[in-house]
Amino acid sequence: MFARAMASASHPVTAQIVPIRRCNLACTYCNEYDKESAPVATGEMLRRIDKLGELGTSIITFSGGEPTLHPDLDVLIRRARTRGAIATIITNGYLLTPERIRRFNAAGLDYLQISIDNVEPDEVSKKSLKVLDRKLEWLAEHAEFEVTINSVLGSEIRRPEDAYEIATRSRQLGFHSTVGLLHDGSGQLKPLDRLQFSVYDRIFGLESGLFSFAHLDAFQRNITRAQPNRWHCPAGGRFLYICEDGLVHYCSQQRGHPGIPLERYGVEDLAREGAKTKGCAPFCTISCAHQTAMLDDFRTKPRETLAGIVARRKQRDPNWRTPAAVRALEWMFLRDSRARRVFGAMALKVLRAKRS
Ligand code: SF4
Ligand code: SF4
Repeated sequence: MFARAMASASHPVTAQIVPIRRCNLACTYCNEYDKESAPVATGEMLRRIDKLGELGTSIITFSGGEPTLHPDLDVLIRRARTRGAIATIITNGYLLTPERIRRFNAAGLDYLQISIDNVEPDEVSKKSLKVLDRKLEWLAEHAEFEVTINSVLGSEIRRPEDAYEIATRSRQLGFHSTVGLLHDGSGQLKPLDRLQFSVYDRIFGLESGLFSFAHLDAFQRNITRAQPNRWHCPAGGRFLYICEDGLVHYCSQQRGHPGIPLERYGVEDLAREGAKTKGCAPFCTISCAHQTAMLDDFRTKPRETLAGIVARRKQRDPNWRTPAAVRALEWMFLRDSRARRVFGAMALKVLRAKRS
């Protein structure tokens, strides 16, 4: 995915696609579900996945609603893989069973993400550690794909401390952990209060793993401090959201823009919409769009981007040990020796070989 993202700027890096709008839960902060809609017909979903493959999409993420309510989700995952994409799902986890997990293994699922809002269910959300813990154990036991547990912070969450407990449990089970920031109906965030902010920092302190975009995400830190980000949102180009009606939107929170049917979406649409300035960008919380933008930054100015990422991480944690993957990139792009400069230049040339 990284190599393809570097090699060309004319294809989508990530597309979120909705196979069903219905959800089996009803989180009070959510504007992305209904209670009655039927699954999108499997044949139609396969056509949409094929189209994303034609556009050269690197990552296809099935979201919803609740994607596991789609009876043929594993068929859709398999199709995404055969079209050369990394296949991921975002689920509330309620319908996971050992048998369903094995079906995902067989289909070639790459990543699964569950967002957990609290330890005990309350009137806001039933996405709760107590309810889901058995499912997490099944995932630890059976999943051959990567699992990420996203613990959520934001004004609707009653007990911010729960997020730390959830992150700790996910690390204990061998999963990745991320922190999600709850956004309002336009993808924007209310600033975190002191307690929420300290929980956010403690969760970051748990991270010691590899080169993780989620934990190197400078965007998120600015937003938690109510500081705007200066960036270009690549939605409509490098990042797409495909609704249940097969229309392309910028993201789940900016539906209606551009609202063009996927079957008619082409290279010119990608270039035009991706280049547009989005007024919602300064306080946007859509982390997939941030991460896609980071990849493009790395593509166009690798030295500056990598130096910034490493410096920010070390500033936050002076004892941070640079992971091997980052060390390799540093060696290529940052260290000052002739041999390395030549190697870095060659790597850049290869990465940009198919630039269009
Ligand atoms: S589980 Fe997800 S899609 Fe369903 S209501 Fe909650 S946040 Fe929305
Ligand atoms: S900045 Fe981009 S990803 Fe964020 S809300 Fe706006 S259109 Fe969506």
